[in-house]
Amino acid sequence: MQEELIKKGMQYIANTYNRFPIAVIKGEGCWIWDLNSRRYLDFLSGIAVCNLGHAHKNIIEGITQQAQRLFHISNLFYIEPQVKAAELLCKYSFGDRVFFCNSGAEANEAAIKLARRYSWKKYGEGRFEIIVMENSFHGRTIATLSATGQPKFHEGFHPLLEGFKYCKFNDIDAVKENINRKTCAIMLEPIQSEGGVYVADKGYIKELREIAYENDLLLIFDEIQTGMGRTGKFFCYEHFDVEPDIMTLAKALGNGFPVGAMVAKKEIMDAFVPGTHASTFGGNPLATSAVVATINTIVDEGIIKHCESMGKYLREGLTRLKERFSFILDIRGMGLIIGIELATSGDEILKEFINEGVIVNCTKGNILRLLPPLIITEEEIDIFLEVAERVFEKFKKR
Ligand SMILES: *Cc1c(COP(=O)(O)O)cnc(C)c1O
Repeated sequence: MQEELIKKGMQYIANTYNRFPIAVIKGEGCWIWDLNSRRYLDFLSGIAVCNLGHAHKNIIEGITQQAQRLFHISNLFYIEPQVKAAELLCKYSFGDRVFFCNSGAEANEAAIKLARRYSWKKYGEGRFEIIVMENSFHGRTIATLSATGQPKFHEGFHPLLEGFKYCKFNDIDAVKENINRKTCAIMLEPIQSEGGVYVADKGYIKELREIAYENDLLLIFDEIQTGMGRTGKFFCYEHFDVEPDIMTLAKALGNGFPVGAMVAKKEIMDAFVPGTHASTFGGNPLATSAVVATINTIVDEGIIKHCESMGKYLREGLTRLKERFSFILDIRGMGLIIGIELATSGDEILKEFINEGVIVNCTKGNILRLLPPLIITEEEIDIFLEVAERVFEKFKKR
């Protein structure tokens, strides 16, 4: 049954993803089930999306109630859950105003447009360059691809959008050297996740904030993956004691319902006026009802504190494994976004995890990336660590 579905998938779906040979039909908490009723422990959460796990009752309730009232109406009207979602995002972040869209790439597109527009309004033409980082990831549309500092993603898609200056991550001098009279913003991920789970240095972020103030540049944080509690704070910027001017969110924002957002300070967001930016589906009633349910659940159920302590517990377990297996070079991350850098390719190890019934991800060829739901328990982490030990033991013998 599963084999047949996979065969059809390969026949009819564009070949743009390296997929696990698994068709998932059900999820509950930190567990998923395939078409053959096999159960897996999910240490990927749909790529940092289902932070509250699968089939959380509050999310189901939130979107079900909304679905019975109103699916869609357009932004020509005020939308009750959209207003509530925006109010909650502003309550728990530095932001004053929110623009809703449908994905991470769109949120970053909006941020790029807002940065240009804000600068244009204040300084006129010619101030449009954005400093971005090498090894970054900001999305797959032409603008966000251009902002992404990884040549492998650019291949075959030139000419890219002009106006991005790539700087080495965590290198403040590189940023200073690239600022000129055309610069309008600095954009980065506080943790480069797709890039291999590299965390920004606190001093670096603080200096970026200073440089941005000095040169009247907007500081844009792409928190699409690090937001919504993933790092043990509501938003990752809180770890650095600074506030950005613009922040982008998507992934876990609706716990699996597709939705993105750009959050900004009022005076910056006000560079957008009617007619400057829009999205038909952006902030749709169903999507934003998922956002409201997600934020309320994160707060009411103490998810952020739990994430912090489970992250610590998991990293302690991994550090013990690192002492035993010399091919583990590094364990890094924050909260429940964790990278395990290996001295060897991660491909075979990944397959072995799947055989053992645990879903993990591998990025950059040799970095295992762990993104379990934030509701993960110590018992489930213990199951993961036992499997990891068995898998690593096998590779030690080879
Ligand atoms: C996933 C991701 C994106 C792109 O989001 P999409 O919803 O796939 O467009 C952008 N930036 C970061 C940091 C991401 O993790």
